[in-house]
Amino acid sequence: MKEDGKDQKKQGRRKKIQLYKPRKKKSVEEDAAIQFLQAQYDKINPDNIKTFKDFPLSQRTLKGLKENNYVTPTEIQKQAIGYALQGKDILGAAKTGSGKTLAFLIPILENLFCKKWTRLDGVGALVISPTRELAYQIYETLRKMGHLHDFSAGLIIGGQNLKFERKRMDQINILICTPGRLLQHMDENPLFDCSHLQILVLDEADRCLDMGFEATMNAIIENLPPDRQTLLFSATQTKSVKDLARLSLKFPTYVAPHEQADTVTPESLQQSYIVCEVDEKIGILWSFIRNHLKQKVIVFMATCKQVKYIYELFCKLRPGVSLLALYGTLHQEKREKIYNEFCRKSNVVLFATDLASRGLDFPRVNWVIQMDCPEDVETYIHRAGRTARGFFGKGEGLLMLLPHEEKIVEDLQKSKIPINKIAVDPSKVQAPQRKIEGLLSDSTELKQSAQRAFMSYVKSIFLMKNKEIFNIQQLDTDAYARSLGLIVPPYIKFLKNQQYMKKQKDNKDNDVVDKLKSTESDGDTDQSVDKNDTDIPGLRKKGKKPKKKDEIIKFDFHHDADSDEDDFLQVKKVDVDPGDEPIEEAPTLSKKKAKPLTKAAVAKKLLKKKIKVNTQVKFTEEGDAIEDEKRDVKSELAKQFVNENVGGIDIEKAKEVLQEEDKFDKIRFREKVKAKHKEQKRKLKNKKKEEEGEKDDFGSQSESDGPDLSWLPNPDKHYGKKDDDGDSDEERSEASDNEGSDDDSEVDQKFHRPTKRKLVESKGIPQASVAPRKVRKVQDISASLSVSEAEALAMQLLSAKR
Ligand code: ADP
Ligand code: MG
Repeated sequence: MKEDGKDQKKQGRRKKIQLYKPRKKKSVEEDAAIQFLQAQYDKINPDNIKTFKDFPLSQRTLKGLKENNYVTPTEIQKQAIGYALQGKDILGAAKTGSGKTLAFLIPILENLFCKKWTRLDGVGALVISPTRELAYQIYETLRKMGHLHDFSAGLIIGGQNLKFERKRMDQINILICTPGRLLQHMDENPLFDCSHLQILVLDEADRCLDMGFEATMNAIIENLPPDRQTLLFSATQTKSVKDLARLSLKFPTYVAPHEQADTVTPESLQQSYIVCEVDEKIGILWSFIRNHLKQKVIVFMATCKQVKYIYELFCKLRPGVSLLALYGTLHQEKREKIYNEFCRKSNVVLFATDLASRGLDFPRVNWVIQMDCPEDVETYIHRAGRTARGFFGKGEGLLMLLPHEEKIVEDLQKSKIPINKIAVDPSKVQAPQRKIEGLLSDSTELKQSAQRAFMSYVKSIFLMKNKEIFNIQQLDTDAYARSLGLIVPPYIKFLKNQQYMKKQKDNKDNDVVDKLKSTESDGDTDQSVDKNDTDIPGLRKKGKKPKKKDEIIKFDFHHDADSDEDDFLQVKKVDVDPGDEPIEEAPTLSKKKAKPLTKAAVAKKLLKKKIKVNTQVKFTEEGDAIEDEKRDVKSELAKQFVNENVGGIDIEKAKEVLQEEDKFDKIRFREKVKAKHKEQKRKLKNKKKEEEGEKDDFGSQSESDGPDLSWLPNPDKHYGKKDDDGDSDEERSEASDNEGSDDDSEVDQKFHRPTKRKLVESKGIPQASVAPRKVRKVQDISASLSVSEAEALAMQLLSAKR
């Protein structure tokens, strides 16, 4: 393997992509050597392996190993390399620092060597790592020990020049990558082709396959040929059948040389833990660093923002040793620089997140300090495993636990991790509290960084799964804020929300207790509940101790500590009553609240309640529902159609149904018209009576004694006739025009009445001189007049009569 010199100078970090060195023609001897090696694969017995030479390995590999002083294989190498050469799938589990990297790199080189892999064959091996730093480290190891082979190797990790990587994709034989970047190439790069992949390796396999990478890994696996060899390695190996099935591993060989060992961590690793309060942590760390200036130390913290702040703060406090910080949100170039600097230096402190907890082989690390409790046993193992690596590595681990986090020690010990409690000599702890506060008051930036660190830690605790250990209610956030130098603790909105909801719930519960108490006889009263209730107005379970006052008020960030007011405290107590319920409840509740109302959810609700959507119910003033007969189907066929309602659209059937319904619509329409006419006639009558009344000498009109209109032609005769002829063609067509009309106003509109002006012009409203014969014609017309038109007509008629 050779690097491209020009590119190395030009591109700096792009050097990692190597260019293909034209392959020499394989000699006949080489073919024979390959056959000889392959013939020995089946005879490999791990017990007989003393040095790498005892494996049937190519000269190029053996030379490369020797150059790097790898002579004696480690346990995992002895056991795994043989099976891997035989082409078996492997589940490799071995302690941190036990040499797993070579256990998969050697088989990769040998596999491709024996298959006479060339540049034209494309990607033959794929190594996936969960972090960029680990991928880089694997790549470096491969480059150092595999450089005598002709294969090209490529490092494909995020934060690099994508275009540059893209162009060289087709030249890479061994690809070392992180999942995200690999998928990006698979998706976007036409030059990327792994259809001839021979070996897939997942380093830190359990991490690669866990929730964080699930979707990405599934997509990657989908793109890989199934008939490949798969090797999985980790110190905390997955045995999940689901994971193995995802990778199409059916009968993998489980290689775990340390399974019977007394400990799961390296024997040369000394492990201890201390229990301290949250506000003591910074002082202890500071004192530790001041007392270990000649050591190489890694300090793990829970979040990026904590790492960033503590690094900035300690740099300002000048402990007298180099300080570095490594976390995910840093720019890639910086990450590489810091990684290399920490590898190189020997007296240095690295503050890091769990980004650095997996696989990284920092040389000669003396101490690993876990300043915040690890998420689980696996995380503890990987963090602690950054020290005491390799054959002769020694190291020490220190875990800082808060009193309520001490429960994790049980889990650690159950998992065969030998860890002992030690005490801190308080006289040796010097907390630079005043200095920190001073620095924060001088620098707004530092103060903001502290606030962010505070929030991120509180959130991380809140979001942790294991609520037995990570209980936000037991975290003294005020004290934590103070220890960071924040005199006024930041307002934690999400906690306040939770407290509010809890208060609401407690108040409800309280009501229930009050009701219960009022119904209970004196003798039956549950003393424990009673007692607690006098102290705390929240509902408590039987036998639960009431909370101490100081315990209770510690989560109220705006609480005035001097205030002794009972009422005020009681409210706080309800707010922050810890322990009675699991903390998960609040986020669930708040989530519920925040959950957007989807159309599907609304539809489901409606279905449940059996509500008919898009229906309008009208009510009378008395509150009785008015039946809307227009919306109800009448014909038998339509009823049948509605009841069946099998979904889909049957046009023919719908047509038939509509035709049937039309008949009923027409009848209804005629009835409506009749009713309208009757109403108009009635109004016309009334009007005339009024006018008659007005003609009285006294100008008054009695309701009962209407004017005598008997002299007028009887309109009922005409309208009655028209009503009887309701099936006339005209009406028929109008009714059919009215199909589907929804309300009365629409009926009115569609029943084409000429405007008053038109009426005068076309029909010729009779003038004063119009003969009575013509009046009769006008009366016919009156059926289609509006009230005002009818009024005008009546006036004319009256004047004509006179
Ligand atoms: P793991 O992946 O199991 O945590 P690594 O592969 O990172 O361990 O190896 C840990 C250290 O041990 C590395 O520094 C590596 O160079 C060294 N190492 C691995 N195998 C051998 C060997 N056979 N002889 C000497 N040193 C080895
Ligand atoms: Mg490793």
